[in-house]
Amino acid sequence: MSVFDDLVGQDDVVAELRHAAAAATALRAAASPELTEGTAGMTHAWLFTGPPGSGRSVAARAFAAALLCPDLGCGHCASCHQVLAGTHADVLLVRPDGLSYGVRQTRDLVLRAATAPFGGRWRAILFTGADRATEQAANALLKAIEEPSPRTVWLLCAPSPDDLVPTIRSRCRLVTLRTPPASAIADMLSRRDGIDAGLALRAARAAQGHIGRARRLATDPEAASRRAEVLRVPFSVDGLGQAIAAAARLVEAADAEAAAVTAELDEPEQAELRRAFGEGSTGKGVAKAVRGGAGALKELTDRQKSRATRVKRDSLDRALLDLASFYRDVLAVQFGATVELANTDIEPDIRRLAAATTPESTLRRMQAIMQCRERIDANAHPLLAAEAMTLALMAG
Ligand SMILES: [Zn+2]
Repeated sequence: MSVFDDLVGQDDVVAELRHAAAAATALRAAASPELTEGTAGMTHAWLFTGPPGSGRSVAARAFAAALLCPDLGCGHCASCHQVLAGTHADVLLVRPDGLSYGVRQTRDLVLRAATAPFGGRWRAILFTGADRATEQAANALLKAIEEPSPRTVWLLCAPSPDDLVPTIRSRCRLVTLRTPPASAIADMLSRRDGIDAGLALRAARAAQGHIGRARRLATDPEAASRRAEVLRVPFSVDGLGQAIAAAARLVEAADAEAAAVTAELDEPEQAELRRAFGEGSTGKGVAKAVRGGAGALKELTDRQKSRATRVKRDSLDRALLDLASFYRDVLAVQFGATVELANTDIEPDIRRLAAATTPESTLRRMQAIMQCRERIDANAHPLLAAEAMTLALMAG
């Protein structure tokens, strides 16, 4: 067992990270435990990139665990458990809760990064969603990376290197994760979560390389039925009224998905906060703690609200990608391509539509979906953008 076990289909990345962790450990054993420019295999700033769901933050966290573990990330010692659970004192976790990181949050982080690690090994700072840092926050981050504390390692995660300003990007060692193959995801789902092999494979294909989504589709019947709702859209655009109604159902399904994801994230955070402020305890100092708790709760609620907005947007985008994958399957059949279909569970529907329409109209429909994504990304009203799309799907 090792902390890298959950990195599905990323053998090259795992080899590189193992090598770096070994180099870091060798460095500690040497007389000078400080990282210098050009230290073989190891460096202060890392940038993990890859498509959503490929495991960027899983990789960064596993690497942090390997750096702090006495045995290069054994996966079962106290240190590994703490890093993976997010409770290790030497791993600072910055979660992408809001739409963007503010400068205050980043400065606070930079200050904390400057102190020596408690455990004596390394201090790792996990900055997921580094692409969402505001310009000022990026400047503060750049300063920290330019003049790093000797024992601090920055682990940034972003969809692609281009999402970061070149000045930060050029100071990071790049780790590129690829879209894991459906078979590798399915293997993990059945091995680790005990999911039936056939179901795991269908879910992995439908999720198009997104591990978390594959697990959700395989384990949550409601998520699966929301996806089915989205995939009914191509067959529900026969008339104007139908097309408008299909757009509404699409947006509703995405909202319901977002609400489920958000609830899953919010509840444990609130429970943890209540525990931290001594819920249920009595005695001196409790009143004061409760007052402090109210402030912290408000801060948490604000953070969660802004995250909910982002999750909603992501969820609609995912629904649109599901829809696009359907038409890509249709196009593949129309061209007689021998690629693996994403939506094998509705293959008869795909073949039926492929036979009844032309590749040109399929391409136009895919274009309409991509245009809808762009409009929503540019802050268009989601329902209006979706209606424009379903009308275009109807026209063909
Ligand atoms: Zn360990």
